[in-house]
Amino acid sequence: MIKVGIPRALLFYYYYPLWRAFFTELDVQVVVSPETNKRILDAGLRSALGEACLPVKLFFGHVLVLSDKVDYLFVPRLISVEQKEYICPKFMGLSDMLRARLANLPPIIDTPLDVSERRGLDWPHFFEKVGSIFTSDRHLIKRAYGSALEADKNFRRLLKSGLLPPEAMDAGNGISEAAATSIASQGFLKIGLLGHPYNLYDSYISMNLIGKVRQMGASVITAASVPDDLIESQTKRLPKRLFWTLGKQMIGSALTFFENEQLDGVIYLTSFGCGPESLVGELVERWAKHRANLPFMMLTIDEHTGEAGMVTRLEAFIEMIKRRKKHENYVSAYGKPVHCC
Ligand code: SF4
Repeated sequence: MIKVGIPRALLFYYYYPLWRAFFTELDVQVVVSPETNKRILDAGLRSALGEACLPVKLFFGHVLVLSDKVDYLFVPRLISVEQKEYICPKFMGLSDMLRARLANLPPIIDTPLDVSERRGLDWPHFFEKVGSIFTSDRHLIKRAYGSALEADKNFRRLLKSGLLPPEAMDAGNGISEAAATSIASQGFLKIGLLGHPYNLYDSYISMNLIGKVRQMGASVITAASVPDDLIESQTKRLPKRLFWTLGKQMIGSALTFFENEQLDGVIYLTSFGCGPESLVGELVERWAKHRANLPFMMLTIDEHTGEAGMVTRLEAFIEMIKRRKKHENYVSAYGKPVHCC
């Protein structure tokens, strides 16, 4: 059986169920790199360009783990996944960066996907081209595309119900959906988490941010559960249209969180060296400061970030929210204390 390797990094957290269903229907075995660990990160840091952002460096590490275990590496050249919008340029050049820096790689499937241009391949043509590498049976490719869309739809339904991408993928693997939903909804506080999925859901890179917040007694929601039409309408409040798909999702979710009365605070996880985030992060931070009434904290990670510092900031943030909530509950029950400011 032919084996295709998919690195557990970058857009894995958006598209894995889609890719997996497509290849499986074509009778191609999908091999995913293991969860990130120190060895994978160190391998990525050694082999990628020093100026690359942390998620790209990590991607290199995941590719290296897979390189001698598979017949092909799947690194699609994602240019645009939505009309009149673009993905960060790093995604366009990933396969070129890999070829330039790493020797002895298996063939890389780097079919371009560009729905913004008439000349580019849209989703059906993209899948047709990828499928034709493995079979000349066009009916089979069409069927595989149908299965992929079905799996993607199911995945997104689970995300909108409140599951996080890793939980939704597990639910798709047979782990009880009800069990995952119950983990997702537990907690005395409710925190909105912002950040690129490849930072947030990679528990090694995020230093298990989600797990830590939950251990401190809070449930979390992320951009994955925010409906697409809400993201669209929120981003229309900006003076200019954002043409980065990932940035748009971040800002649309942030503005939705800031208006959500069920939330007690918002944490934004960013990675050092991210070009688009230097703008998007700034916009979100300014909005939080001047136009929102929710506690907000930005955490920036890079390969040198220490866990102890992050835990201290997190504990202080959660403690501050707990006190604020206690104070609000007191005021709503008994009115303002006489010495209250
Ligand atoms: S959006 Fe930022 S973190 Fe993501 S690949 Fe581009 S530069 Fe790196």
